[in-house]
Amino acid sequence: MSQTRVRFAPSPTGYLHIGGARTALFNYLLARKEQGTFILRIEDTDVQRSTQQSVDAILDAMAWLGLSCDEGPFYQSERFDLYQRKIQQLLDTGKAYKCYCTPEELDAKREAARQRGDKPCYDGTCRDLPPRADDGTPYVVRFKSQQQGRTSFVDRIKGRITFDNSELDDMIIQRSDGTPTYNFVVVVDDAEMGLTLVLRGDDHVNNTPRQIQIYTALGYPVPEFAHVPMILGADKKRLSKRHGATSVMAYRDMGYLPEALVNYLVRLGWSYGDEEIFSMDELVEKFSLDNVGRSAGVFNPEKLLWLNEHYIKTGDARRLGELLRFYLARIDIVPAEDIDLALVVKSLQDRSRTMVEMAQKAAFYFTEPVVHDAKARAKFITAEQEEIFAVLHEELSGATFDSDGVEAAFKRVLERTGLKFGKVGQPTRVALSGGTSAPGIYEIMLALGRERCLQRIKAARELCANG
Ligand code: GLU
Repeated sequence: MSQTRVRFAPSPTGYLHIGGARTALFNYLLARKEQGTFILRIEDTDVQRSTQQSVDAILDAMAWLGLSCDEGPFYQSERFDLYQRKIQQLLDTGKAYKCYCTPEELDAKREAARQRGDKPCYDGTCRDLPPRADDGTPYVVRFKSQQQGRTSFVDRIKGRITFDNSELDDMIIQRSDGTPTYNFVVVVDDAEMGLTLVLRGDDHVNNTPRQIQIYTALGYPVPEFAHVPMILGADKKRLSKRHGATSVMAYRDMGYLPEALVNYLVRLGWSYGDEEIFSMDELVEKFSLDNVGRSAGVFNPEKLLWLNEHYIKTGDARRLGELLRFYLARIDIVPAEDIDLALVVKSLQDRSRTMVEMAQKAAFYFTEPVVHDAKARAKFITAEQEEIFAVLHEELSGATFDSDGVEAAFKRVLERTGLKFGKVGQPTRVALSGGTSAPGIYEIMLALGRERCLQRIKAARELCANG
């Protein structure tokens, strides 16, 4: 195992969205590639906004994508004692201070700064107050930020980034209710968990100099940083619900395969020559931060659909069959025991772009009696076809039910009736599936099995006879 230790640190205030999933994936791939450790940490210090439901949703989505962690999930809400000790350490060493400014005073200062055209920075009123005994007056704890000089780091994706310390005011590290804030706990945890690299979305770039100062103040080594550019919608605005679904699990519900989403997400920001298709194993081998671009990725639903189609077409039929159950259940279909779902999948793999589409197209296999499309029935289940169904019934009764067997039986029907393939094929398709746009008839026969085929042909024949 190498030294590499990375993490994904979602705040459980909603579902796992596309951007978060990509960050998690990049971390996961790096850990796997470098045989390091991938840590999952739930950042739930904001007690008001964090929910167990979101935690579950995030864990489910990560499991669905196949992003298993090596350590965790750790919950920040269970680590308050540690944070408390570290805040005390900063207070004791004069690197943090208690600030008694009231919210009203702070509002007034902000407003005054705004009117002067300045940034609303804290003005340091309490920075140099002499220590004061606790008399119950509410306070927050602020970090004593460097006022001179610069804070600089080399981002593994963006290169060197430098901030003037004068831009950083004394931020709050502990709220008046005693809870610590994000910028503080993230440092304590990243340091205590021994992270070597912090890889996250670039919405955190501006937090990084503040965090670096806290590492230094607490005597921790500073890890490396890599900030991944954000994901945009087609209109080049930050990806949001306006652009369609942004939740990972919404894609599962829409019938996307996890491998398609993984493949799609990794390419949103990372490239490997002009290759497009990558299995998880290939990604683990090929992924590297060197090929993560600096510009934002644009979310392209068409490309995701294209990848999904590819993975459905090439996927293992048995596995897809198991997945199909979920999508069938959502349209209230419980597949009959005697129908082999792998055969159903095989018949539809080439004609389904999503699993939802596959389930819809597969519905006829499980619907008894089969529902005939009115137009198709008027054309293909009439007195003219009665003879075809009679002969077909006979031939299938004695056929071996494998690819060669059903094909041979069908050929004998052509011979015996003296009709061309099309004349027999379409009525057969309508009798077995109810419509004309179903998969190949041999594939349908194999998936339905002899008994169901015979039943459906008999039913069609009866309809012919009864008009
Ligand atoms: N919890 C933060 C978020 O969800 C991420 C913190 C980090 O990666 O440093 O945005």
